[in-house]
Amino acid sequence: MNLKISALQFVEDVKTGNISVEDFIGKTMEHIDKVEPKLHAFLEINRNSLDDARTIDKKIKSGEKVGSCFGMPISIKDNICIKNSKTTCASKMLENFVAPYDATVIKKLKEQDAIFVGKVNLDEFAMGLSTEFSAYGPSKNPWNTEHVPGGSSGGSAVSVSAFECIASLGSDTGGSVRNPASFCSVVGYKPTYGLISRYGLISYANSIEQIGPLTRTVKDTAFLLNIISGIDSNDNTTIDNKNEDYLSQIDEGIEGKKIGIIKEMMGEGIDKSVLSATNEAISKLESLGAKCEEVSLDMVKYSVAAYYTITATEAGSNLARYDNLRYGYEFPVEGFEFNSYITKSRKNLGPEVTRRMIIGGFVPSAGHAGKYFLKALKVKSKLTKQINDAFTKFDLLMSPTVPILPFKLGEKINDPVALFLVDVNTVTANLTGKPAISIPFSISNGLPIGIQLMANSMQDKALLQAAHALESTVKLPEVQI
Ligand code: GLN
Repeated sequence: MNLKISALQFVEDVKTGNISVEDFIGKTMEHIDKVEPKLHAFLEINRNSLDDARTIDKKIKSGEKVGSCFGMPISIKDNICIKNSKTTCASKMLENFVAPYDATVIKKLKEQDAIFVGKVNLDEFAMGLSTEFSAYGPSKNPWNTEHVPGGSSGGSAVSVSAFECIASLGSDTGGSVRNPASFCSVVGYKPTYGLISRYGLISYANSIEQIGPLTRTVKDTAFLLNIISGIDSNDNTTIDNKNEDYLSQIDEGIEGKKIGIIKEMMGEGIDKSVLSATNEAISKLESLGAKCEEVSLDMVKYSVAAYYTITATEAGSNLARYDNLRYGYEFPVEGFEFNSYITKSRKNLGPEVTRRMIIGGFVPSAGHAGKYFLKALKVKSKLTKQINDAFTKFDLLMSPTVPILPFKLGEKINDPVALFLVDVNTVTANLTGKPAISIPFSISNGLPIGIQLMANSMQDKALLQAAHALESTVKLPEVQI
């Protein structure tokens, strides 16, 4: 049984009777059990998957209508709610939290007969980019288990990359889908803000974050986007995309497209091998008929500072609900007054979340807001204007997804600012609401490098077409696990 197939191939194979869902899911579960001790992608494995597979096989046999996923194994980042299953956000604070409802994306995938093989690891509350801030221990990069898999959707990227599932859903607030996708050599996509409902995604910085798929191919991303995108009455920030079909015309190509190469995303601190991979990607885009030209967007320099100021502020407010009264763990209230009770409760949050909440309390506070929070909002609007102007000239913008290679576990954990700076190429798409995708492009010293393409709002279809064109020029080795 070949577990290394794409989502579209899986659907085809099940439809034509080439494989049974039970066999595929059975082998997938065996494989998960074999590799998990090395990788730790999963926080919880769904042991009912095989029963779900049998139910779908029965439906197929009896000629009943089957949803378009045909029992495809999908993993879900553990900050997205699946009814009656634990949703911990990789935090001790939510260790025993069982979601009472399905996120909209889950409901849509269930309707299409996807099988959820498990909940996957993340940095606590999606804050981080290495999965090292998970309260349940880090995930490991399948390309080299001494290195981080990226984050915060590290478990998602590892599970797809190591063939523990065919696709995964993550969330991207500042790069959390694209960064681990780049580090683990899979496709990672953040849609235009509002294209996918956030209902049932546990908020970190809700004004800029989106759920996004991680897959083996760009076509698989388009396939999933067809299922999970669209307006939702439970999330009034969603956009009506008129049931756009992202898979049709995916072979359109990029002949004649103008692509801006963002100067500030290839500057100081970029790894040599990342730089040469990016130059190679530029040549490939040109050989496909695109016209590439450097563009300078000087507000990018301030994007990381603005991003962390805005997201900490939103996190401070979104995480205020973890007061151990509505969510949390049991301990007796006797002997505490209000403040000491909340202080003791919050001790269950890890160091990164605590740091963000402290920053998030300070930067928008009276007397400091003008210097920090309001300034960050100004950067956000200036950056948006610069990007919008760039899109009057260019169809797409391009950069490496991450300026460095996957680093070693433990290497940056005690240096939060060094970690923040790794986000320099990804946060712009979130601050401006634009769609962006990371495509596996190269392997250097056994470690993956991804290329990022960005498009204007609601140009998701054109973005996927371009990504598919670039992807078709790349042939990478398979990961050995
Ligand atoms: N590294 C960024 C942060 O820690 C991005 C996280 C994300 O996209 N969820 O905020």
